[in-house]
Amino acid sequence: MAFEGLSSRLQNVFSKLRGKGKVSEEDVTEAMREVRLALLEADVNFKVVKEFVAKVKEKAVGKEVMDSFTPGMVIIDIVNKELTELMGGTQSKLAKSSKPPTVIMMAGLQGAGKTTTTGKLAKLLQKQNSRPLLVAADIYRPAAIKQLQVLGEQIKVPVFSLGDQTSPVEIARQGLQHAKDNHHDYVIIDTAGRLHIDADLMEELKQIHSEVKPDEVLLVVDAMTGQDAVNVAESFNAQLTLTGVVLTKLDGDTRGGAALSVKAVTGCPIKFAALGEKIDALEPFHPERMASRILG
Ligand code: GDP
Repeated sequence: MAFEGLSSRLQNVFSKLRGKGKVSEEDVTEAMREVRLALLEADVNFKVVKEFVAKVKEKAVGKEVMDSFTPGMVIIDIVNKELTELMGGTQSKLAKSSKPPTVIMMAGLQGAGKTTTTGKLAKLLQKQNSRPLLVAADIYRPAAIKQLQVLGEQIKVPVFSLGDQTSPVEIARQGLQHAKDNHHDYVIIDTAGRLHIDADLMEELKQIHSEVKPDEVLLVVDAMTGQDAVNVAESFNAQLTLTGVVLTKLDGDTRGGAALSVKAVTGCPIKFAALGEKIDALEPFHPERMASRILG
């Protein structure tokens, strides 16, 4: 499972505190120094770490905490709450348009897991008795269209495609019309990814955005790339106004830096987490559960 490194380091810090009947200000300072190091080692953004530690410390050194019967436990509880806040506080749900179909635009760099996630999201919606339509607008990556079609067949969700010779904006436009004509309640558009963020990519995404006016713009980022994922999210958000982030490959992320930084840095909530290659390995992201998981 994800975050083993951070999890075991924090558990170490807190097992020391938990054992104490009385906690001094020095104990808190020492614990916070270790928490700070653990978070930095987990590749959490340094500003985020600084603010986090300051907040926890401010709450932990109060008389109420120190005089309580179980000060260690109270401090762990404070850390738990602050970790939850850091990841967005409460679960951020997928938008649902009052005028169907709800339009979801998927964006991301190549290899982040965008196409796979698009299929997984369709499957998740289908399980909730929705009728999604997938739209194959990633015409640049060889085999991306085929990959989406295979996923669609596997989960029995139709895939709208016009091949790779029509512009992505036109594919998105016609895809949305097709969804309306066929009474789909969700339409998920798999847009192009590139190896790097560039002006062409952003321009194309903006054009698709203004054509289909999406209810959700979800950016798919690879959690294993840590702060790079956060930087990618910042750049996309500056140009496209994201409504949410999907963190993929959390199954292989032993550090957790992206999960703990992306909301604080971009202001954009994490809506889903992908924890494996299989089609059903996508879950709504629950900050409170994730925090509890980290603290063990
Ligand atoms: P795209 O270029 O962003 O569309 O990326 P793909 O959807 O083709 O995914 C790239 C690779 O990452 C594929 O081998 C996927 O199976 C893999 N992948 C995607 N999501 C996950 C995940 O959550 N966990 C793991 N372990 N692999 C994933």
